[in-house]
Amino acid sequence: MFIGHLPAGYILTKTLQKKLGTSKYLFFGLLGSVIADIDILYFYLIDNRQNLHHGYWIHIPFYWMMITLVTILFFWILKKKDYIIASIIFFSNIFLHLFLDTIVGKVEWLYPLTDKGYYLFDVPAVYDFWVWNFVFHWTFLFEVGLVVWAVVLFVKSKTESSTNKTL
Ligand SMILES: [Zn+2]
Repeated sequence: MFIGHLPAGYILTKTLQKKLGTSKYLFFGLLGSVIADIDILYFYLIDNRQNLHHGYWIHIPFYWMMITLVTILFFWILKKKDYIIASIIFFSNIFLHLFLDTIVGKVEWLYPLTDKGYYLFDVPAVYDFWVWNFVFHWTFLFEVGLVVWAVVLFVKSKTESSTNKTL
């Protein structure tokens, strides 16, 4: 997934905010929706393109499950309700990212049982530049749909807040 992560993160965070009764932590949600892809930088800059990007720990659900459990347990013991809400928003977006990556990329959902990568649709390598393989594949319509949905939601929430102000 290329352009869909941030809009998807926006949609999920807005939904969670409503459910959890808060208007805060949008930043944490958006950060969680894209942070797993910092391994792309690592892939290009440090690792000299040695490992497949989804094979780094930051794209492996098992590690995030551990981090999520420890973090929420920690804040629960400290009785920090606000931190728990922020964590739920952040980590939900992490898992949303991994789920969206599963559509056309490989994600090792069952690691450490197996390091097999799972995906829903195979994108054939047709173009020289690998990005075009994904952009011109029909699954890219998912991403376009997410962008449109997020924009509609954003405009709606802006007009709602401005009508609230005038009332
Ligand atoms: Zn990713």
